[in-house]
Amino acid sequence: MGLVYDVAIIGGGVIGGSIAFQLAKRGKKVIVLEKGRLAEQASGAAAGMLAAQGELEKETGPLFKLAVQSRAMFPHLAEELRELSGIDISLINRGMLKIATSQEQVHELKEVMTCQLQAGQEAEWLTGEQVRAREPGLSEVILGAMYIPNDGQVLAPELSLAFLKSAAVLGAELREYTEVKSLLVERGEVKGVVTHGETIRSEQVVVATGAWSGSWLGQGNEPATVYPVKGECLSVLTTRPLLRTTVFSHGCYLVPKRGGRLVIGATMKEHTYDRKVSIEGISTLMERAKRLLPAIAEAEFEKAWAGTRPQTRDGLPILGEHPEWKGVYLAAGHYRNGILLSPVTGVVIADLMEGKDVGGIKPFQAARGLTV
Ligand SMILES: Cc1cc2nc3c(=O)[nH]c(=O)nc-3n(C[C@H](O)[C@H](O)[C@H](O)COP(=O)(O)OP(=O)(O)OC[C@H]3O[C@@H](n4cnc5c(N)ncnc54)[C@H](O)[C@@H]3O)c2cc1C
Repeated sequence: MGLVYDVAIIGGGVIGGSIAFQLAKRGKKVIVLEKGRLAEQASGAAAGMLAAQGELEKETGPLFKLAVQSRAMFPHLAEELRELSGIDISLINRGMLKIATSQEQVHELKEVMTCQLQAGQEAEWLTGEQVRAREPGLSEVILGAMYIPNDGQVLAPELSLAFLKSAAVLGAELREYTEVKSLLVERGEVKGVVTHGETIRSEQVVVATGAWSGSWLGQGNEPATVYPVKGECLSVLTTRPLLRTTVFSHGCYLVPKRGGRLVIGATMKEHTYDRKVSIEGISTLMERAKRLLPAIAEAEFEKAWAGTRPQTRDGLPILGEHPEWKGVYLAAGHYRNGILLSPVTGVVIADLMEGKDVGGIKPFQAARGLTV
């Protein structure tokens, strides 16, 4: 018999990486199995915004609480990961401007702001003039913005690799080009996983397969069904930074990275695993970006890419033990916020696997909505 691991993690994205890191820190013998290359799917494509308030505007429920908790973990995590892996995740805390370009959006955003202030979060309303005083490159189409000081950003591929490398430094084994075909079930119990050519034995299994998680969830768990949503992005380079703060609107966001790089995202197309970059997608993003930040027209095009977000029917991620298989844990469906939610996901799943009582995660169980 080959090696026996404490935990086999299926999927080498930011979620599998964060869980591997937490488990390795707790002394577990972990193996991460990735069908392609590490962090090359959604986690390598993300813009890296930590938009707890910017993205989850209509929420102050359990997902919002989880997101705020996860956002607060980044400053310490950035240091810890740099120390272990040598990778700088480039945490930038210069806030986010959630902009309005119509009176209707002004009204909506002010309501969102009131709600978030009541939930104990920080936010400030800026008029169009105040927005341009802060960011002189932004155009007159912006009528006002909710300024969110605590929504920062990181480099998503670096974060994913930093989790994985730190886990490896702490003893985890990472295997690329290793697709898991099924669970290893013996006498009704899960004993590991089966790849193309190998049986890997482990005490517990984690499914962190992003947009490919649908077939792992078990029958009849409709609200938690995972499906793919394609997103395209591009980046440009400028000699002089055009923005300091992230600018977020529904059809387009602009995320200023270090070194005069600006990431522009993102398109949305449901139910496709296609990762081709389309002229339609990129030209739409470019037009929207120019409308908000006219000087971007002079910037140098760097590159464009696409990734596959893991969405669920009810929009909540899936976190918890498999409804049918004991010892198998699910961590998937993080949709547009997997980078933001990765630190807390790692801790929650590691705690559950150790049998700890984790409060507030019932809404994220795979079998939600089915029990009375
Ligand atoms: C364009 C775009 C922009 C985004 N921007 C942001 C953002 O600004 N902020 C934010 O928080 N989030 C953002 N996201 C969302 C974020 O990227 C995802 O929520 C997150 O990366 C999901 O991580 P994951 O590890 O679950 O999935 P993935 O990164 O897709 O990883 C899953 C891995 O599992 C592997 N796998 C699947 N099946 C198997 C198998 N059978 N055996 C072995 N391996 C398998 C896959 O190859 C893959 O590498 C964005 C996403 C996109 C596409």
